[in-house]
Amino acid sequence: RLASDAHHSAPITQGKSGHDYGGFFREAVSRLHGERRYRVFADIERVAGRFPQANWRRPDGSTREITVWCSNDYLGMGQHPEVVGAMTETARRCGVGAGGTRNIAGNTSPLVDLERELADLHGKEAGLVFTSGYVSNQAGISTIAKLIPNCLILSDAFNHNSMIEGVRHSGCEKRIFRHNDLAHLEELLVEAGDRPKLIVFESVYSMDGDVAPIGKICDLADRYGAMTYLDEVHAVGLYGERGAGIAERDGVMHRIDVIEGTLAKGFGCVGGYITGSAAVLDAVRSFAAGFIFTTALPPAVAAAARASVRYLKRSKVEREAHQRQATQTKAALEAAGLPVLHTETHIVPVMVGDAELCKAAADHLLECHGIYIQPINYPTVPRGTERLRITPSPFHDAAQIERLTAALAKTWDALGIPRTGSAFGVA
Ligand code: PMP
Repeated sequence: RLASDAHHSAPITQGKSGHDYGGFFREAVSRLHGERRYRVFADIERVAGRFPQANWRRPDGSTREITVWCSNDYLGMGQHPEVVGAMTETARRCGVGAGGTRNIAGNTSPLVDLERELADLHGKEAGLVFTSGYVSNQAGISTIAKLIPNCLILSDAFNHNSMIEGVRHSGCEKRIFRHNDLAHLEELLVEAGDRPKLIVFESVYSMDGDVAPIGKICDLADRYGAMTYLDEVHAVGLYGERGAGIAERDGVMHRIDVIEGTLAKGFGCVGGYITGSAAVLDAVRSFAAGFIFTTALPPAVAAAARASVRYLKRSKVEREAHQRQATQTKAALEAAGLPVLHTETHIVPVMVGDAELCKAAADHLLECHGIYIQPINYPTVPRGTERLRITPSPFHDAAQIERLTAALAKTWDALGIPRTGSAFGVA
């Protein structure tokens, strides 16, 4: 009943002085409402040891137990005892903050160890950690491309916003190749001639759950003398013998110049990184504003992430269970006639094709069935391909898959959503 209470009861003073620009902001948001893509975040309390169960706090303050089907903590590592143990032990030992940027007192030993661990994971000379995967792409791509004179960037059409921002911030010329289209990529490489080239792409594409032909892209890169930058955000921890991702699974990790990943999804923590040659990483470390001018990840987070990476290097049980549960979820949804997009990965998109219906379906699932799946609308996916993106984990059991299937079927019927997904190429 002390400072925090006083803070909450402090009078609201915004907009009381100077010019009132509030109308601009309200209008911008009302445009989103008009386009039916105003976002509402469910207020979720995660409970250690209970994943994928969680508590949903409604706007009126009441709570309901729910099953989370859209977490990117794909393997539940955020609640793994070794990971939680590493974080709490390090927080007790070192405190909670990093204390500064990497350059100014923030270069703590757990962070240095984590970078070694990540370099080893991907078989590279060096690793460099950023405060998020987003920043690692934005800072990594922009800095690398900027440092190569006259660099042309070739970027997959479905690349994540963080990569697009990296390309934009580089100021370099770019060409977008059609998604996973090797012929188009080759055409652009030929057109580019002798100038330096950087190909940026992902391994697992997060919204469609499809996979890049990494080896074939490397063949083209070799043939036309291009550098390669691969985002393995939706694959690290999840694929490959030691959890290094699809490039490891496909035996082509050594052919990629820079591999980027996140510590926030398969590894269940927070932070992002790039790995590559010592020369490239030393340059990014020296020139990337998004690395230099921000406080480092706290030591406890670095220790937790390292524990997670180390654990998943040696344990395959979670990866195998993850794939099994994803396959079973897809099979159950397909058997119920729901329009599941065929994927070869753990990502299970169920197509709706309309922003309003998609949000209504998500609301219905949460309110009527205690199932939480965030709707995915434009601009994350193209208009008309709105969907529910389901991410099974090793901890979703057969009974939960059955409940999910029944709830989706009832929701589709209640809202009159078409079961045929022919518009999306769904069988
Ligand atoms: N790359 C891809 C492909 C992503 O989907 C995301 C986040 N969803 C990121 C990078 C950013 O990672 P982070 O969440 O660690 O910032």
